[in-house]
Amino acid sequence: MKRRSFISNVALGATTATVLSSCNAQSGSGEATGDSLPRIRWKMATSWPKSLDTIFGGAQTVCDRVSAMTGGRFTITPYAGGEIVPGLQVLDAVQQGTVECGHTASYYYVGKNPALGFGTSMPFGLSGQQQNAWLYHGGGLEAMHKLYADFNVINFPAGNTGAQMGGWFKTEVQSVGDLRGLKMRIPGLGGEVMSRLGVNVQVLPGGEIFLALDTGAIDAAEWTGPYDDEKLGLNKAAPYYYYPGWWEPGPTLEIQINKTAWEKLPQEYQEIIKTAAMEANLNMLAAYDAQNRIALQSILKSGTKLVPYSNEILKAAQQASLEIYEENSSKDASFKEVYQSWNEFRKQVMQWNTINDLSYANFAADNLR
Ligand code: CA
Repeated sequence: MKRRSFISNVALGATTATVLSSCNAQSGSGEATGDSLPRIRWKMATSWPKSLDTIFGGAQTVCDRVSAMTGGRFTITPYAGGEIVPGLQVLDAVQQGTVECGHTASYYYVGKNPALGFGTSMPFGLSGQQQNAWLYHGGGLEAMHKLYADFNVINFPAGNTGAQMGGWFKTEVQSVGDLRGLKMRIPGLGGEVMSRLGVNVQVLPGGEIFLALDTGAIDAAEWTGPYDDEKLGLNKAAPYYYYPGWWEPGPTLEIQINKTAWEKLPQEYQEIIKTAAMEANLNMLAAYDAQNRIALQSILKSGTKLVPYSNEILKAAQQASLEIYEENSSKDASFKEVYQSWNEFRKQVMQWNTINDLSYANFAADNLR
């Protein structure tokens, strides 16, 4: 009631001006009435198939909550990868204004700027909780906004898968020598690291992984974690399930918004989008942890053998990752700037979380009753 009377009595002139100007400029927007916020309809391109309900659910949460919090005045419709644009071209579509917004992962676009990887996950980087700490309270989101300004885009975290698994293998791999020559589906920086360890890296979309692994066209593949991997049937295509997913310890998904469209929104809608994105970020992480614990039991019953990566492989992979970071830093000033502050944050938060989280988790895990 207070807000209504504020709008109708005190700020009617200013609010109406904002509403009308934004309404006129919005594609697909409806009519604004004197004391209300405008009707706006946006499209959201995503990188995900709808069958992956948890990750696509991050996009759906943003859209559902924006609609609910605006009484249906501001609606955003999410589209699966490939419906409007291919799943890995969401940033391009948002930048060009083909759609007003997208739900995707920043590290799909490292070809445009390698520093964009920090917005999602880096090999031997941050856990989901640490990623949130860096983005919201460690200067991370400001750093990403600076990078995305070059694309006329603004981003907000809107999902996290939690720590991923280290992939499915047809045969056991104990040493770096065992990795050499293996054909593995693994995209992004993790793939670049694996390539330096001698892996023959393949990049396949999610829908093609099962067949390639099942027929032996590839020897190994990574996707997400137990819940999503079981949906793809990967436990039926290879027996060994490695951990941890050192290249994706806590990847953030995000909403990307065309900045011109963003700036035309009433401030109330901007605040609602930010709130909906934060809710999606929290909700996806919670959903993955809750679902993965059940899917893990199910795939273990199906005969899957869990195997930890050896220290030899982990150390070689970490060394290769640090080399890539140094090389990128020497080639690219924006990468160097983000890397330095991220790395400092990483070392400090690791020290803290070793004391509080890890010491407790180690005891609790060893003494389950
Ligand atoms: Ca993955």
